[in-house]
Amino acid sequence: MAEAFTLLFDAPLGSLNTLRVNATASCLATASDPDVLPAILSHERLREFPVLVLGEGSNLLFAADFHGLVLRPAWRSVRISEDDGRTAIVRAAAGYGWDALVDWTLAHGLPGLENLALIPGLVGAAPIQNIGAYGVEASEFITAVEAWDRAWCGFVRLDAADCGFGYRDSIFKREPDRWIVTNVEFRFDRQRRPALDYAGVREELAALGNTDPGPTQVASAVRRLRRRKLPDPASIGNAGSFFKNPVLANERAAELKAANPSLPVYAAGEGSSKLSAAWLIEACGWRGRREGDAGISAQHALVLVNHGRATGAELLILARRVAASVDARFGVRLEPEPRIVGAEF
Ligand SMILES: Cc1cc2nc3c(=O)[nH]c(=O)nc-3n(C[C@H](O)[C@H](O)[C@H](O)COP(=O)(O)OP(=O)(O)OC[C@H]3O[C@@H](n4cnc5c(N)ncnc54)[C@H](O)[C@@H]3O)c2cc1C
Repeated sequence: MAEAFTLLFDAPLGSLNTLRVNATASCLATASDPDVLPAILSHERLREFPVLVLGEGSNLLFAADFHGLVLRPAWRSVRISEDDGRTAIVRAAAGYGWDALVDWTLAHGLPGLENLALIPGLVGAAPIQNIGAYGVEASEFITAVEAWDRAWCGFVRLDAADCGFGYRDSIFKREPDRWIVTNVEFRFDRQRRPALDYAGVREELAALGNTDPGPTQVASAVRRLRRRKLPDPASIGNAGSFFKNPVLANERAAELKAANPSLPVYAAGEGSSKLSAAWLIEACGWRGRREGDAGISAQHALVLVNHGRATGAELLILARRVAASVDARFGVRLEPEPRIVGAEF
């Protein structure tokens, strides 16, 4: 059998991250089967290297070159592994496209992922920050995550309860050097009703003439909303929302709301509230501003954009300045959502 991986030394990464930062990696390994992971990781030229798993690079900022091994999972398969007519279990490979999975599940009569349509990236990255959009999170459907555990040097299967899922969070995000996600297992309930309560979804469906929409119509509406609201990485480099919405104690959130009545505040469970990071950034005057080729999108204040040749370091400087101004004006600390490679935030 031909080797199921390729190695490229001194690899350019500019086309492999959606912020289009021209970083390089000491080595780029592309694996077409998870079984070759042990061979790659113990390869004599690579075994001392730090490892970074790279999907489509849509949630990463390369603040510097990566002196190590960038590993790309390129195994792609999806199948229904169990089906009792009412619920079905789907096992999807880390290298399968996320939006392709949304379409695949809907085509197989399995609703649920429609609100997560058009999120860029691969299936293997979905559990890392527990991707979410329009009132739905991937963890609502994930039953298990299969991974290579670099601490134990073996393949493991983690039940969802052991994945530590939270708002844009999981154990995989907290221990990025440990896990290489190989497959993700999802459960779907064929009777599930679409989740329409998130702001804008119902209105978009109404505009399309759908008052009793099925999941496929919801996916179309979500795609239309996203195309309108978010800059397309194919046109301008970006990594989606650059900051998480800050979560504060209810009392503190109420104080801020009293002082700033138009600040959107949402319940976040257990005595805490989530604030709109976009509102805070816009209130500090950042929307549409640009420093060299690094900028804040004019379309959406939460999106850091690369107008052309910004380096990762320049983008990071701008992001830090945005966070510092929000902190100075509102006393709220913003945390970046993407992984910053090669620097601290
Ligand atoms: C325009 C735009 C809109 C977006 N909208 C949303 C949104 O609505 N909601 C949302 O949650 N996110 C959103 N994102 C962020 C991003 O699309 C998701 O986080 C996505 O899951 C990242 O997938 P990726 O394959 O590009 O991962 P990458 O960016 O390549 O990697 C992200 C992180 O996951 C790790 N990783 C990736 N694959 C694996 C693996 N197999 N095993 C272990 N670690 C891995 C990487 O090391 C890195 O730390 C958006 C991004 C863009 C550009």
